Amino acid sequence: MIRVLVSSCLLGDAVRYHGGDARCDSLILERWKAEGRIIAACPETAGGLPVPRPPAEIIGGDGSSVLRGEAYVGDRTGADVTPAFMLGARATLELVTANGVRLAVLKDGSPSCATTYIHDGTFRSQRGSGQGVTAAFLARAGIRLFNERQLEAAAEYLASLESKAAANTP
Ligand code: SF4
Repeated sequence: MIRVLVSSCLLGDAVRYHGGDARCDSLILERWKAEGRIIAACPETAGGLPVPRPPAEIIGGDGSSVLRGEAYVGDRTGADVTPAFMLGARATLELVTANGVRLAVLKDGSPSCATTYIHDGTFRSQRGSGQGVTAAFLARAGIRLFNERQLEAAAEYLASLESKAAANTP
């Protein structure tokens, strides 16, 4: 079975920095859950950060810049939390590799999980384009990324992968 990585907070887990979730009510997610297809992950807690925790933003770039060592992740107290974010990205990739995941639906806007936009590092709710650290790490490994507004596109992509796999099965 082709499995789908989903940000834990979208599934209703209270793992966000403020102690809440980002539950996404969706028939597609319900179907995937019933099929046993979902692998849930929260890269920030996997990296050892607590709940709640100070909000963090990428300073000086996006997730790809962090992977290249050209930017870092700082929290609102001024602490450099890049090592925890990198640990979480690696742990998430291990989970993905161990479970045959080919695509991910991740919470947009997060310094870890964002697929299209992040905050600009000023802690003033200003958006900039870019991926989070884990999202960039997974994309680099060939995982196709979607966010919570793109569940139908994710389901279509999954269906295309499954029909290719069926066509190649003798
Ligand atoms: Fe949700 Fe990802 Fe942030 Fe965890 S790291 S709370 S899964 S957006």
